[in-house]
Amino acid sequence: MPLDIRLVPMFADNYGFLIHDPVSGDTAAVDPGEPGPIIAALEAAGWPLTLILNTHHHEDHVGGNLALKARYGAQIIGPAADRDRIPGLDRGVGEGDLVEIGRHAAHVLEVHGHTRSHIAYWFAADQAVFCGDTLFALGCGRLFEGTAADMWQSLQALRALPPETRVYCAHEYTQSNCRFALSVDGASPALLARAEAITAARAEGIATVPSTIALERATNPFLRADVPEFIAAAGLAGLPAVEVFAEIRRRKDSFR
Ligand code: ZN
Ligand code: FE
Repeated sequence: MPLDIRLVPMFADNYGFLIHDPVSGDTAAVDPGEPGPIIAALEAAGWPLTLILNTHHHEDHVGGNLALKARYGAQIIGPAADRDRIPGLDRGVGEGDLVEIGRHAAHVLEVHGHTRSHIAYWFAADQAVFCGDTLFALGCGRLFEGTAADMWQSLQALRALPPETRVYCAHEYTQSNCRFALSVDGASPALLARAEAITAARAEGIATVPSTIALERATNPFLRADVPEFIAAAGLAGLPAVEVFAEIRRRKDSFR
């Protein structure tokens, strides 16, 4: 039986997620920035909480850890290198480790750049990746602790996942990301088509998450730093991919 995955909106634009295995009854909360919405979603579904999966240490992703652990006795899993920054961490994991929800396994991918120790959880058989603030729909995370080279490497790793993989990113930033993407790559038919779909979805209050790796590969400017048409559109011909990426990230930082 497939995993039952639910979005849990919190704060202004964060998404936490519940991942439930109907066979074992095990349920994980991904990046519970605050406890209230997670508790409400668990109670509405009638699920217990057995696991908490953190992608990185930022408060809007770990703020609910201790309250949820106290209430449910859930085990907290997160990046091993952030043992001192993730409240209540029980099990530190890194590249190549496996995390299981019932019999559904996630591969841990190290995807640094937003922070120096950011991880993603890739459920290969379930075709889903939980990538926190690394890859966003039409965007990528800000470089707080890592370099452009770190983030470009992380994005290439995510880009290499199977195209049908659903991308569960941790913020609803898609509409503003889309405005920036159009400013760089506005002649791309795939991007223009996606922009229309995003506008329509947001007008009805529909989440744009999850996306897919295929859709991001085709339209996300931060995944296209080595695509000749994109480099030309951005006016960056002749630069190596990592420098194209770095420049696009800088432009986004100052985009209004
Ligand atoms: Zn963050
Ligand atoms: Fe965040």
